[in-house]
Amino acid sequence: LPIVYHKKILVLGLAKSGTAAAEILHDLGAFVTVNDAKPFDQNENAQYLLSKGLTVICGSHPEDLLDEGFSLIVKNPGIPYTNSVIAEAKKRGIPVWTEVELAYRISDAPMIGITGSNGKTTTTTLIFEMLKQGQKHPLIAGNIGTVASSVAKEAVGDNTIVTELSSFQLMGTEQLKPKIAILMNLYEAHLDYHADFQEYTDAKFNITKNQDASDWFIYNGEQQLVMDYAEKSKGIKVPFYVSKKTNDGISADDQFVYWNGEKIFERSSIALRGKHNLENVLAATAAALLMDCSLADITAVLTTFHGVKHRTQFIREWKNRKFYNDSKATNALATKSALEGFSEPVILLAGGVDRGHSFDELIPYLHRVKALIHYGETAERLQKFGEEQSIPTVTGVNNLVEAIEEAVKVSDVGDVVLLSPACASWDQYASFELRGDEFIEKVIALKE
Ligand code: ADP
Repeated sequence: LPIVYHKKILVLGLAKSGTAAAEILHDLGAFVTVNDAKPFDQNENAQYLLSKGLTVICGSHPEDLLDEGFSLIVKNPGIPYTNSVIAEAKKRGIPVWTEVELAYRISDAPMIGITGSNGKTTTTTLIFEMLKQGQKHPLIAGNIGTVASSVAKEAVGDNTIVTELSSFQLMGTEQLKPKIAILMNLYEAHLDYHADFQEYTDAKFNITKNQDASDWFIYNGEQQLVMDYAEKSKGIKVPFYVSKKTNDGISADDQFVYWNGEKIFERSSIALRGKHNLENVLAATAAALLMDCSLADITAVLTTFHGVKHRTQFIREWKNRKFYNDSKATNALATKSALEGFSEPVILLAGGVDRGHSFDELIPYLHRVKALIHYGETAERLQKFGEEQSIPTVTGVNNLVEAIEEAVKVSDVGDVVLLSPACASWDQYASFELRGDEFIEKVIALKE
């Protein structure tokens, strides 16, 4: 890589991706300096990189850092562009990448990149599973799995890298050009920490910016904002439509899924629930078809795939009640999506950190909720909300374990018991993963 070899490169921010990038750049023959705000004595990554021979500056971002004369900066996606070092680098015309650009540059393996406000992890995982089923040697990178540049370093000719791309990662790309780029959806509620909606959507567009007529762009054909961006893409356009049969792209009506207007399989062969998951299924199926997977390979995955862990994940059936873990739903919008997927009576387990957000987004789907069992910091607000919305049973308990016990007590044959907290977990758990793990463990342990 000419831009790397024997050049002075600064890696800013040493989370998982920064550390991987620094090590790879070092191995590629760059002179790497790493800079991280966390003090050296508490900074295992910095200690490790120092032992490998990199230059390490910790504890702050010094003003004169750039006087070293770097030709490239690789920054952690979490570091904002308002950071003084980054702002100064921009002024001086030094390129600033995120680690996914490096991943793209160091590997010849084709890349499938997935972005959007929601559904990234699910779609990424579905594509990975389909390509695996079709023996296409996929490697998965992103939120689940490994940092993209580490994966790219290991990739060989017949591998395909399937990676989720956040808007923060995409803001720092230059030449990134996925073979298949996917834009799931764009929701204004997902501004995250971007300066404004324009910056956020522009970042998302970077996924297709460099594509040409040898690449494909799969996108939501029913969201105006996404369609506006698709207009500008030079990739081959493959829209998906979840609510009507069409003669282009991939689409679905109540019964079937269509590829270019041809029936390809029945909706009943999809194990995942909910219209939002149908988006994910259609986008993934289109990608797998373009990668030459057979319909048999694709449906083999669709009939058995019950969701990524903690994302409306089916756990088990117990005495004719179905248990689902949607611990990832840390806001009301995600819980709304989960509720939308069920037609059965739902016993909803919710609560956690109180960020003061409203639960009103749930209102259109509350007729499915026969009981709300709540716990954690939001207890009082959820009690009031449940009563105001006339949910038949609203009960407060101390924690998730008690909530499961209570759910079992009030449940009937045919009910769904859904953990979809609409709140973050850290009042009682270190992460949403640990919250979901506890739910899984207790539900599996229910005696027949
Ligand atoms: P992401 O990686 O973009 O955060 P995930 O696949 O992890 O998305 O799903 C997170 C949650 O978002 C799910 O539990 C579900 O409630 C909701 N969700 C998933 N896919 C979609 C979609 N296509 N549209 C809207 N909401 C979705």
